[in-house]
Amino acid sequence: FVIPEWRVFCSTIEKIYVEAKSNTDGKVANYIPQLSRYRPNYWGVSVCTVDGQRYSIGDTNVPFCLQSCSKALTYAIACTEKGADHVHKYVGQEPSGRSFNELSLDHNKKPHNPMINAGGILTTAMIEPHLKPADRFDFIMNEYQRMAGGDFIGFSNATYLSEKDTADRNFALSYYMRENKCFPEGASLQETLELYFQLCSIEVTVDSGAVMAATLANGGICPTTGDAILDNDAARNTLSLMHSCGMYDYSGQFAFKIGLPAKSGVGGGILLVVPNVCGIMTWSPPLDELGNSCRGLQFCEGLVSNFNFHNYDNL
Ligand code: GLN
Repeated sequence: FVIPEWRVFCSTIEKIYVEAKSNTDGKVANYIPQLSRYRPNYWGVSVCTVDGQRYSIGDTNVPFCLQSCSKALTYAIACTEKGADHVHKYVGQEPSGRSFNELSLDHNKKPHNPMINAGGILTTAMIEPHLKPADRFDFIMNEYQRMAGGDFIGFSNATYLSEKDTADRNFALSYYMRENKCFPEGASLQETLELYFQLCSIEVTVDSGAVMAATLANGGICPTTGDAILDNDAARNTLSLMHSCGMYDYSGQFAFKIGLPAKSGVGGGILLVVPNVCGIMTWSPPLDELGNSCRGLQFCEGLVSNFNFHNYDNL
């Protein structure tokens, strides 16, 4: 798929970007100092098509932490490695209807889905469980890097240390899950959480994040390198769950209004996928009450009002 009028497309993206720039709603996350230091006026958008066409505007080269956006990527890797049947022995496919870090499990005593903290912690536990912690981290970093086609991937050690230091809720979730025998056999609670905090602390730019999103849009093959990273099924499963569960407690409304798979993080990023067309990453730190980036949401609304990208457009 090639976007036929590429110049027109880019100038429309620019227009939507500029409109959202004047939006000063929301508050930067402040549960750890590293996030609270993000300047509220940071605003960047990057697009990468499944043919590798690129367009970006604004703060496109400033690294920021993936935070919960990593959950979508980690789930995609877990499904590729283990298959969806195995992964879903441990985690459901249902929107939780509750906040992302709520201390609750579904009626089967499993986390509702892999896009909330409890489910993200379990999918983390499934990846290369027999390797040493350093090698598991390297493995996942390398997979993220491949999805980004070799573009920038970093790591904020300060964020990791802060996450670990203020993680009472994630520890509580994990002990609650251990009590309910949620973890795969042999998984260490401490090691799993440490890896989970590390994945939240991995940094991208909107440019590299857009390539990751484009890899999902392209069924798991990175459009800039041709590298086949994810199983086609794993990409499909990831997009399905991003569609129903990716935007916290706004997921239902987002699916209704925007009709596209997306995953947001408290760092202010939104990983947005237009299947078979392009991947988009937006980043702006101020968040609304539900935890989604205000400018990012406005951008998504602008995108579907200018293009027929909603899943149920073109009926
Ligand atoms: N580090 C955060 C946590 O685990 C990530 C959550 C998020 O981005 N919503 O609580």
